[in-house]
Amino acid sequence: MPVTREKVGECRQCRSFCDKMVEPRGCLEMGCRFLYSFGDALTGTQYVGCMQQVFRATIELGAVTQAGGFGGVKMTGRSLPHCPFRVERAYDGSGERYDCVNRRFFDCVDEGPEGLRAFDLRDISSGSVGV
Ligand code: SF4
Ligand code: SF4
Repeated sequence: MPVTREKVGECRQCRSFCDKMVEPRGCLEMGCRFLYSFGDALTGTQYVGCMQQVFRATIELGAVTQAGGFGGVKMTGRSLPHCPFRVERAYDGSGERYDCVNRRFFDCVDEGPEGLRAFDLRDISSGSVGV
């Protein structure tokens, strides 16, 4: 049976089974305005999370800042263009069934209110680029 399922943050269009992983340390380092933190009043432990729900987990701040970084958490929501992510392949087979047929899965998003504005340079010479 062909494998075709795709959700936000995961692609199952071939047998490589890829997942997008967000690196919360990258969110912290870039000072993303959507990264929030809160403290547990009982233990004093600080946690961080993403207001945009690009990842749903809340993570201990100490783990994020530790040497070597925390590692990635699975992307569960629609990302913004600046979100730091990498793609992890679950299976590294060879042959047609493992060949990528969804190269755009590796790109950042270019849609939505914060999407990258791309335009065709040929439109400039024709004077049709709007502002
Ligand atoms: S919006 Fe993106 S960069 Fe910002 S906290 Fe969420 S995942 Fe990180
Ligand atoms: S290799 Fe390409 S087609 Fe296959 S699961 Fe990964 S992103 Fe999808």
